[in-house]
Amino acid sequence: MRTDLHRHPTSPLTAVRNLGILAHVDAGKTTVTERILYVTGTTHKRGEVHDGTTVTDFDPQERDRGITIFAAAASCAWDGHRINLIDTPGHVDFADEVERSLRVLDGAIAVFDAVAGVEPQSESVWRQADRHGVPRIAFVNKLDRAGADLDAAVESIRRRLHPAPLVVQMPIGAEGDFTGVVDLLRMRSLIWADGIDSAEEGPIPTTLREEALRRRRLLEEAVAELHPSALEEFCAASALGERTLARALRDLTRTGDGLVVLCGSAYRNRGVEPLLDAVVAYLPSPLDVPAVRGGADGAEQERAADPAAPFAALAFKVQAGATGRLTYLRVYSGTLRKGETVLDAGAGRAERVARILRVRADRHTELELAVAGDIVAVVGPKATRPGSTLCAPGAPLVLEAPTVAEPVVSVA
Ligand code: GDP
Repeated sequence: MRTDLHRHPTSPLTAVRNLGILAHVDAGKTTVTERILYVTGTTHKRGEVHDGTTVTDFDPQERDRGITIFAAAASCAWDGHRINLIDTPGHVDFADEVERSLRVLDGAIAVFDAVAGVEPQSESVWRQADRHGVPRIAFVNKLDRAGADLDAAVESIRRRLHPAPLVVQMPIGAEGDFTGVVDLLRMRSLIWADGIDSAEEGPIPTTLREEALRRRRLLEEAVAELHPSALEEFCAASALGERTLARALRDLTRTGDGLVVLCGSAYRNRGVEPLLDAVVAYLPSPLDVPAVRGGADGAEQERAADPAAPFAALAFKVQAGATGRLTYLRVYSGTLRKGETVLDAGAGRAERVARILRVRADRHTELELAVAGDIVAVVGPKATRPGSTLCAPGAPLVLEAPTVAEPVVSVA
């Protein structure tokens, strides 16, 4: 369902997902991002990575190098939710930037290559996300490739990253014949016909029934083992209902005790819509994550994700381009209004916020205000750097100790 939430900065916080995509270089992060923007109606053309038209990789240098350098943020809407996609650099050379983008996310999709499984760099990004306590779901991509093997990829995840992968889909067809999945929660099949973006939903093909039931049973048993209240229901009825299963998967995702695994082929746009459904169902909103902490007058202070609290935001990206100097903010508390003067807490300098923008890939929407939990870009601050806190002048707070000065990236 496509909805335009972009003009409504005060849409309920529970309907916001600040999301990152974590992956080894080449696993398909750019393609997944691109398809998310496409299926949510944010972009209407299909950008292909290899022809340099992708929307998130908009820096010429980045296109040339074929890697995602900048943590640009793009906003899209899905099923009544606003999804702010924060592009985390997948390259080890940008470790500081990865750290900073991990800090502003509330949840992430970890993308794996169905042929390669877990690769060394996926492990290092995974550990970084662990340190930041980022709840994740996994997407095993490239199921259309020769040699793709979901079970082997899941086994490598179990061995190297997470002891409790919870596979919620079963692929239909393999490699070039990969055409769909069985949704193991709803026990329905989703088939993508050639040239069609949305899956046709239907009953499970008879030949796959037995295998689907076996996998559903494995999923139920794994969930019951990890989740106390699901276990009670499982023991009482020796099966789990769809709602109990979904609730348990949400809880396990948010505590990190289980890892929901989905699969598909981003390149062929297969599996991206169910992936967005899983983002909405399982990953947390800004209200579901612990309140942010920062330093104020030498003491530590907590700031709730409350629009009525004093304003505090972290600048996590600064880009100089055609729109002027664009500072990307994660607003943690309070409300920022267009035209307001705020304090750059680390530098002790006042900065005026002339414009607030919702960045939608290649377009911007002007906002009057931005509230706690949101991700926006602002125009006006002249010297704010990545890592700076912007806050209400009357309630100073430093969210992140200043790190090594990071260059302002030029995209013009
Ligand atoms: P990133 O480095 O993680 O951003 O990966 P990209 O999205 O740039 O993808 C790397 C390469 O894999 C590109 O050539 C993509 O076209 C290709 N690719 C991405 N997703 C798929 C997929 O689902 N199937 C296949 N066969 N190739 C894919």
